[in-house]
Parts: sequence; structure tokens; C-alpha cells
Amino acid sequence: MASVMTPERKTVKQPKPLPKPNSDFYQLLEVLSADEQAVVKKVRAFMETNVAPVITQYWVDDSFPFELLPAVKELGIGGVGMKGYGCAGGSLALLGFVQMEIARVDPSFATFMGVHVGLAMGSIYIDGSEEQKQKWLPPMARFEKIGCFGLTEPLVGSGASGGLTTTAKRDGDAWILNGEKRWIGNAPWCDLSIIWARDLADGQVKGFIVENKTTPGFSVEKIEHKIALRVVQNGHITMKDVRVPEANRLQSGNSFRDTAKVLKMTRYAVAWMATGCAMGAYEAALKYAQERLQFGKPIASFQLVQDLLAKMIANITASQCLIARQAQLHVEGKLTDAHAALAKAFATAKCRETVAWARELLGGNGIVADYNVARFFADCEALYSYEGTYQMQNLILGKAITGVGAFV
Ligand SMILES: Cc1cc2nc3c(=O)[nH]c(=O)nc-3n(C[C@H](O)[C@H](O)[C@H](O)COP(=O)(O)OP(=O)(O)OC[C@H]3O[C@@H](n4cnc5c(N)ncnc54)[C@H](O)[C@@H]3O)c2cc1C
Repeated sequence: MASVMTPERKTVKQPKPLPKPNSDFYQLLEVLSADEQAVVKKVRAFMETNVAPVITQYWVDDSFPFELLPAVKELGIGGVGMKGYGCAGGSLALLGFVQMEIARVDPSFATFMGVHVGLAMGSIYIDGSEEQKQKWLPPMARFEKIGCFGLTEPLVGSGASGGLTTTAKRDGDAWILNGEKRWIGNAPWCDLSIIWARDLADGQVKGFIVENKTTPGFSVEKIEHKIALRVVQNGHITMKDVRVPEANRLQSGNSFRDTAKVLKMTRYAVAWMATGCAMGAYEAALKYAQERLQFGKPIASFQLVQDLLAKMIANITASQCLIARQAQLHVEGKLTDAHAALAKAFATAKCRETVAWARELLGGNGIVADYNVARFFADCEALYSYEGTYQMQNLILGKAITGVGAFV
């Protein structure tokens, strides 16, 4: 008797669907309130829909995506983490998650935000008078006026705290600025420059808001041929007898200690951005590993490849837990310069390791911009060095834990 079992009736075993790459392995997003989670999800949708499809070409072309700015304005994240003055508000954890989310798609875009919101708006928010905050922050929060932050000089980088050579000389109700600034993000096209200069009278570092497009003596040359964060336009600023009214001197920025208050907050944010950069590279590498076949199998099925992926997600998860605790310390009023320095140094170093493993996992395609890992690999180099290098962060931390300064 013929079998009643026809081939059609046999149950064909379907392959299990592969998990979608997810770089939030410990579900850290859940530390935010539902409202703040919604903001992060909105940012993710914007980054994936508007930015991801076009950003590699901008990166290759070394140009900034001005076409995206109208949609960025609509997102309502100008001044996230800052209260009042037309700012988006929300917790400092939200600021971190937003920056992590942006960097997960593009570290350059996160840097543009970090410079405009964190450094430029942050300087006014932290070191400005009430009147200055009322005047400058609302148009900046609406992205109508874009800012930059000029601290580093051609000959003075890590040693900026004691070595700035740009001078400020009081002249009646104005100040005269002379000097040069290097590496200044957004400078070639922005509207407002926060310039840090040494007061010739008391030797202290002071901050000035310069309306750079209309102030005589202020010129900017774009820095060409960068191999990291190519979307961000960095400038070399030259100031020759630049006249700035006393009303534009940051009224609570009276020494480098006040500059450092701004840097503490932006180092806090760079730790989140570096974690986002690693997340983007990890997710792209995992997807590639699930699809790329060698020896007739997906490379994700090889033990040595899984080891690389496991080490990547471990680095990312460790960084996420650390930066989430950083946010709690801030809420409790306990975040110190050393806390932020540790987070920035650790997260950028782990990012550097992670993006290199992602690059490795893609083999030859890992060095081609089109495969979406090379950009993270290159960009991480700048995150590791800007906002104070790895060594400077460890020196800040070293002083805090030993009680002995070792900067010089
Ligand atoms: C892409 C990018 C964007 C940037 N954006 C801005 C910006 O918007 N605004 C701004 O003001 N600056 C900006 N910077 C400048 C950045 O902050 C500096 O590059 C950084 O602080 C390091 O300074 P430096 O490059 O002059 O290196 P240097 O200070 O010359 O350091 C060179 C090396 O020596 C090491 N070193 C220095 N001193 C010590 C020491 N005492 N002990 C041990 N090692 C030491 C450093 O760690 C580093 O490895 C940007 C830089 C880059 C690359």
C-alpha cells in the first residue's frame, strides 16, 4: 500500500529568523521616563530615515548636510538638557541618550550638535548673565543662530588651561581680541563664536560672544583633508583687533575654572557619543556577519567571529552602564571633573577597540566607506582626541585618585 504521507504534507522546517542587531543589550533606554523614551525614538527615526541614506556621501565629499537643518529644527531638540530660554529641557540622561542615538548613525552629526548645543549654548547657559541667556539662547535653541567654541590654538591644545596666547584687552566699553584658534567645529559657516582669551590686565581666561559674520578682523579658513568627522566643518580662526562689546563678555566666565565647567558637561556628552559610535559600528558588523557567506555558511556561524561580536557588545554594554550612572551622579549633584574624565577616556578607548573589531569583521569591505563601518572607524579617532585627549582625561582622573597633579 502506498504511503498516505505525500511530500506536500511533510512539515518543512523553516529556518529560525535571525535576531535583528540590537546594541541596547541591557535595555538601558528603560531608565528614561516614557516621555523621554519617546523623544529618543523620534530622534532614532529621524536619523535612520533622513540622515542614514545620505550621510556617507556627505562624509566622502567633506561637506555639511545643510539640507537636513530644517528637519532638525522640527525635531525640537535644541538645548536638550537645558531648562528655560526656549530650550528643549529634559534630563541630562536624555541629552546623553539623544547624543548616543545621533552618533549611532553619524558621529559627525552628533559632533555638530555637541559643538552648537553643548559647547556654544552650554557656555552661555553656564557662564552667561541672565540677560545674555535671554538674548542668545532662544534663537540658538531654534537653530536660527548656530554657534562654535574657540578654545584650542595652533600652538596650544592640551595645555589650554594655563597657556592660551589669544589676548583680550579692555578698551572703554569694549574688548580687543587678537590671536588664532584652530580646529573649531562649525566655524567656517556659523553665526556666533564663543572665543576664550587671556585678559591682559589680570591674566585670567575670559569668554566672549563674537558675531563673527559681521565683526571686522575675524576670518576663518576651513581645515581641509581630515580623515575623521569629515561632515563637520572645522576652521582655523584668525583675529586681528576684533572689537567685542563688554555686553558680549560672558559675565560669569572669569577664569579657566569657568571654562572647565563647560568642558565637564561636554566630556560627559562625548562619552555618550563614543558609545553611540561603537553601537553603529557593531550593528552594521553584526548585520554583515549574518549575511556574508564564506565556506558556504554565514560568517556569524564561526566561533572566532562570534568572539569578536561578543567582545564588541560587552564593550558597549559596559560603557552604557557607566554613562547611565554618570547621569545619575549629575542629578544627585555629585558629578565631578574626574567622573566625566573617566567616562570620556573609558568610552572613547572602548569605542576605538570596538570599531576596529567591526572593521576587521568586514574584511576588505571594512575599509570602504559604502559599507557603513569605515566611517565609524575613522570618526572614533577624533572622539578619542578632542574635548581633551585620552591622556589628559587620565591625568585629571590621576590627580583626583592620587592627590598629586602630573600634568607637567
Ligand atoms: C575633529 C576635531 C574637532 C575639534 N573641535 C574643537 C572645537 O570645536 N573647539 C576647540 O576649541 N577645539 C577643538 N578641537 C581641538 C581638540 O580639543 C584638541 O585637538 C585636543 O585638545 C588636543 O590638542 P592638540 O591637538 O593640540 O594636541 P597636543 O596638546 O599637542 O597633544 C599631542 C599629544 O601629546 C599628548 N600630551 C600633551 N600633553 C601631555 C601631558 N602633559 N602628558 C601626557 N601627554 C600629553 C596628548 O595627549 C597627545 O597625544 C578639535 C579637534 C579635532 C581633531
